Amino acid sequence: HFPIHVIGGGLAGSEAAWQIANAGVPVILHEMRGVRGTEAHKTDDFAELVCSNSFRSDDATSNAVGVIHAEIRMAGSLIMACADKHQVPAGGALAVDRDGFSAAVTQAIASHPLITVLREEIQGLPPAEWDQAIIATGPLTAPGLASAIQAETGADALAFFDAIAPIVYRESINMDVCWYQSRYDKVGPGGTGKDYINCPMDEAQYNAFVDALIAGDAVGFKEWEGTPYFDGCLPIEVMAERGRETLRHGPMKPMGLTNAHNPTVKAYAVVQLRQDNALGTLYNMVGFQTKLKYGAQAEIFRLIPGLENAEFARLGGLHRNTYINSPTLLDRSLVLKSRPGLRFAGQITGCEGYVESASIGLLAGRFAAAERKGEAPLLPPDTTALGSLLNHITGGHIVSDEEPGKRSFQPMNINFGLFPELEPGSIVKPEGIKRFRGKDKTIMKRQLIAKRALADCAKWLGVSAPVLAESA
Ligand code: FAD
Repeated sequence: HFPIHVIGGGLAGSEAAWQIANAGVPVILHEMRGVRGTEAHKTDDFAELVCSNSFRSDDATSNAVGVIHAEIRMAGSLIMACADKHQVPAGGALAVDRDGFSAAVTQAIASHPLITVLREEIQGLPPAEWDQAIIATGPLTAPGLASAIQAETGADALAFFDAIAPIVYRESINMDVCWYQSRYDKVGPGGTGKDYINCPMDEAQYNAFVDALIAGDAVGFKEWEGTPYFDGCLPIEVMAERGRETLRHGPMKPMGLTNAHNPTVKAYAVVQLRQDNALGTLYNMVGFQTKLKYGAQAEIFRLIPGLENAEFARLGGLHRNTYINSPTLLDRSLVLKSRPGLRFAGQITGCEGYVESASIGLLAGRFAAAERKGEAPLLPPDTTALGSLLNHITGGHIVSDEEPGKRSFQPMNINFGLFPELEPGSIVKPEGIKRFRGKDKTIMKRQLIAKRALADCAKWLGVSAPVLAESA
C-alpha cells in the first residue's frame, strides 16, 4: 500500500496514525513540534496534554464521556491504552501522569514499523501525489496551513475563536414558566413559528440578573490569545457592564414575544433558547457566549425563570480555537467534500476535548485505512457515542432559521443530548420502588443509552462488550 499522510501528532493525529498502521497500511506522520512550537504546547512529545491531566469521568454505565472511553478501548485505542497505563488516582475520573502518558504515546508511535515520523511544518494543503491525507492540526493549527484551509473552504468556514453559548438539556427546562415561540411568530425555512423556548423576566428579576452577571467571576484571556471581541460576539457579562439596558436591547429583548402563560403582562426581558440538534434534546442560550467561570455560570443562569433546575450539556466559553464548519464541509466519513482523499480529524472538526479529539482521530484513521484497502468506510451506529459525536460534526447540528446564513456550529464535548432517544416505553419503574422521580428517570435513561451504545459498538467492531459493574 501507498502511505497515508497524517498531519499533526496530537491526540487525534497519534490515534489516527496508530489505527491506520494497525490496519496494515503505512503512515507518514508530519509533526511540526521540534521545528516550530505552538502557544500552548511545552514539549515535543506526541499527544501532549496542553492543560488539565484529566480525561474526565471513566464511568461507562451512566456518563457519556465514560461511554466513549469504553468504546475506543474496544476499538484498540492507543490513547486509552497509554492513559490506562499511566493513570493517577482521581476518584471516578481518569487522570494521567502527563509526562508518562505522552512519553508512552511517543514511544509507541516511534517504534511502530509502519509509521514514519517527519518533524516538519506543513504549510499548505497536501500535494496531489499524497492522494490520501488526514489534517489533525488542532485548535492551534499553524498559520500557513490555516490560510490554505481557509482559501479552500471559504473565509467564513474556518473560525479562529469559538464563541460558545451554554447548552441546556431540553428536559430540564420548566415549561410551566417558559413557552415556545419565534419572535413575531416568524416562520423560517423548515421552522414552525415556535422554534424558540422563551424565559420571561420582570424588571426586578432583570436587574438582579444584570447585577449577578457584573459581579460574576470571569476567566481572563491568555496573553497569546489576544482579546477577540468582535461584533455579535461579546461575552454576556461584558454587555451587562456596558449599561443596564444593553442586554434588554440586545439578546434579551422582549419584542415580538407574548408569554403564553400570562399573555396580558409584557415581559421586561426574555432569554431565548434555540434548538441545537436535530434530535431536539438540546437548546442553546442565544447570545449567551461568556467568559464566566463554570461554577458562576451554572449559579447565575439558574436565576433565569424556567431554568431554575437547568442541566447544562455544555457551559459557555470563548477561546482561541481553529475549527472548520464541518456540517457543511465534510461528508459522513470526514472527507472534505471539495477534495476527495483529504480528511479532517480532532478538534479542528468541531469536537471539544482530549478524548473526543482522539475518538475522531480513531474514526478518521479507520475510514482512511479502509478506503486505502478498497473497502467502504464502516460508520459507527448512530446509537454509539462515536456515532453520536460523528453525527454532531457531520450533520446532526441544525442551522438557525431566524438568521439565515449565520454560522451557528460550535464545538461540543460528547454528552447524552447527542444520542438518539430510546424506544418509547424503555423506561420502566423498577419493582419495589415507591417513588420514581424525574431524576431517577434521567439516571435510568442514561444507563439504558450507555448500555445500548456499548452493545451496538461491540457489534460494530465484532468484539465482546466490556462487563461493567452497575453504577450506584
Ligand atoms: P492537538 O493535540 O493540539 O494536536 C495538533 C498537533 O498538530 C500539534 O502537535 C501541533 O504541533 C501540530 N501542528 C499544528 N499545525 C501543524 C502544521 N502546519 N504542520 C505540522 N504539524 C502541525 N481539552 C480537554 O479535554 N481538557 C483540557 O483541559 C483542555 N485544555 C485546553 C487548553 C488549551 C490552551 C487549548 C488550546 C485546548 C485545550 N483543550 C482541552 C482542547 C483539546 O482537547 C486539545 O486542544 C486537544 O489537544 C485537541 O487534540 P488535537 O489532536 O485535535 O490537537
